[in-house]
Amino acid sequence: VTTLPEPLLRLIDSLKGLPGIGPRSAERIALHLVQTDPQTSATLAEAAVQARAAIQACERCGGLTESQPCQICDDPRRDTAILCVVERPEDVLALEKSRAFTGLYHVLGGKLSPMNGVGPEDLRIGQLETRLKQEAISEVIIALGTDVEGDATSFYLAKSLAAHGITVSRIAFGLPAGAGLEFADEVTLSRAMEGRREMEK
Ligand SMILES: [Zn+2]
Repeated sequence: VTTLPEPLLRLIDSLKGLPGIGPRSAERIALHLVQTDPQTSATLAEAAVQARAAIQACERCGGLTESQPCQICDDPRRDTAILCVVERPEDVLALEKSRAFTGLYHVLGGKLSPMNGVGPEDLRIGQLETRLKQEAISEVIIALGTDVEGDATSFYLAKSLAAHGITVSRIAFGLPAGAGLEFADEVTLSRAMEGRREMEK
């Protein structure tokens, strides 16, 4: 067994925990970083530290932002009567890229999952209710994945938002069951948004 120097092992270990990077890639990136121009490693490390320090959750929608509120919440050209509910900030990016939606967003921060102990109080559902009271919203579009938890969360929201007298719809998916927004291309997302259906209360 070849033992790599301790600092290199530590670098591989921290890279391994990143999404989409397996043990092989972690090793390849680490070996590259310790052999390339020192400035390359310094720039990467600095960018990571600075981005982490600068990026926070928008207090209104829960999306990622550098300032409060975020650029989308603050954009006067957005349709403030329509709110799209998504699971994660990544989903906001996916929908923005598709240009299929011009309203405002609300990031839940997860999906209901009794198995994993995630209840309504663990998600930004209270904040959603507050927004419906304070903002002139006429339609809420639920854009959650089509897995069991996405379905359960959508039905829960449709029920609990019924009291607000608004239209609650859910986007149509041209996707295999169980897939999330991140796997949809831009055309599919546009069609899913256009084909949204009102949910039963
Ligand atoms: Zn925002």
